[in-house]
Amino acid sequence: MMQKKAKILIIYTGGTIGMMKTPRGYAPQKEAFHRLLEEIPELRSDSMPLWDIVDLDPLLDSSNITVLEWNRIGQRIASHYDAYAGFVVLHGTDTMAYTASALSFMLRNNRKPVILTGSQIPLCEIRTDARDNLITAMLLAADEMVHEVCLYFGGKLLRGNRSMKISADDLIAFDSPNYPPLAEAGIDIRYHTSALLPPCSGQFSLQILKNIPIGVIKVFPGIQFELFDSIMTDSLKGIVVETFGAGNIPGGGDKLLPIIRKAAENGTILIICSQCPHGTVALGAYETSSSLKEAGAVSGYDITTEAAVAKLYYLFSRGLGREEIKSRMERSLRGEITIPSRT
Ligand code: ASP
Repeated sequence: MMQKKAKILIIYTGGTIGMMKTPRGYAPQKEAFHRLLEEIPELRSDSMPLWDIVDLDPLLDSSNITVLEWNRIGQRIASHYDAYAGFVVLHGTDTMAYTASALSFMLRNNRKPVILTGSQIPLCEIRTDARDNLITAMLLAADEMVHEVCLYFGGKLLRGNRSMKISADDLIAFDSPNYPPLAEAGIDIRYHTSALLPPCSGQFSLQILKNIPIGVIKVFPGIQFELFDSIMTDSLKGIVVETFGAGNIPGGGDKLLPIIRKAAENGTILIICSQCPHGTVALGAYETSSSLKEAGAVSGYDITTEAAVAKLYYLFSRGLGREEIKSRMERSLRGEITIPSRT
């Protein structure tokens, strides 16, 4: 008996992959992109899964993506969850790692492959990388190996909430510096099974995100922390602080400390991340980070800024209390951080 083919849903949100040249630069063009897809016979080959496609309206350059679009992508997945074996989200590369991170939290108890992909060169161009990215992402989404939100690009399948865009022009544009690839697509697709999340057993649900006011501060030599004092109001719910190395800040925290205290009084949560793509924050390892810990800042360990931002949106949208949010920020919810084992 012939095995039933898996069916997947492609959600087209915009991005370079479907863009055409216009007098004002590349922009998404819905009809032209659909026509181009029809002109790729491989997409309907016997070796490919069956597929449907839906478009986000309007299609976007991903630099314009907001919480609203994350919710709309999440709703598309949730409303078709039982009808498809997996999902491919076609997305611009600029904020793909943010969207992948956000979806990983929003899709609670997800056990289906949700694969984000796009391209550096549009599908309409002769040297496009879109064809391989799309075809392989579709095969991955139809496979039963993956039970999480991932990003496929340039031959590598990465955990979505570990990924970051590392190049504005290379065809290998993404990496997950603190986590191994989940799979590599060479002659065959080779899964690194020990890196994959196991399937969830709970009931799938979608957490809609609210547009929570949060911020990101990147420290630099000579930073004048006092300038941030005025933005530390009680309407700011969370701040991701990108620190040096293992969580260090200039001036041993002398200048930052009053601001952190003010933030704590206002109920703002501070997450400490590293500017280094590799390695982890270890608050208290150096004198320059001890004060952060003492003042109640939370360690993001090896989390990416993209995932820290998405996780804050998610936890606040769930309506959790401040202490609960702090505690969950220091725990891995979807494989987004590695907590160093205490020696
Ligand atoms: N600006 C584009 C976008 O993110 C870049 C891309 O897709 O590669 O939508």
